Amino acid sequence: MDATDHLKASLEAAIALANATGAEWNQGRARSPLDEVTVEAVLRLTTNRMPSIDDAAVAEFAAGGERIHRALVQLAEAETDAAASAINDLLASTRAAPVLVRHPESAWHLHFATEGVSVATGWLAEFGTATAMLLGSDELDRLRSCAAERCDNLFLDATRNHRQRFCSTACQNRTKVAAFRSRSAHS
Ligand SMILES: [Zn+2]
Ligand SMILES: [Zn+2]
Repeated sequence: MDATDHLKASLEAAIALANATGAEWNQGRARSPLDEVTVEAVLRLTTNRMPSIDDAAVAEFAAGGERIHRALVQLAEAETDAAASAINDLLASTRAAPVLVRHPESAWHLHFATEGVSVATGWLAEFGTATAMLLGSDELDRLRSCAAERCDNLFLDATRNHRQRFCSTACQNRTKVAAFRSRSAHS
């Protein structure tokens, strides 16, 4: 994993957290309140060193995730100035600062948590940084909202021709079935 891959993984995690906290609908279901299991699933996208997540951390991830969601929606809708100032606020409030660290048996790599902040704040600092780097990159035009009904998920289009419309095969299939039903209803 090189430095860029590390931040890409954190960006995927930031988007997953945003979807779990800021979207009204996830893949046809009303979003449920954030819980410890979902936070761990988000973090697993970017780390294999799982911190312990208590209720206070969940609440902090929920609030931070909503802020990231708003900024990502603004980015997806080309409201770049608003997104930039929202991301700057997040970076400032999490006191994000690059620092090289090395865990036992790992190589030196960047973290963005200032010493003394909570676990959640440290991760939100990293997610804010990953989102900030998206703003200045070619990857930005891969960010979009799911085209399915009852899904507000954001995703990064992974296809070569940039034509992915849905966040998941679940949403793609749901949309196909709905289109088939409405055609049948009219015949
Ligand atoms: Zn690390
Ligand atoms: Zn979707």
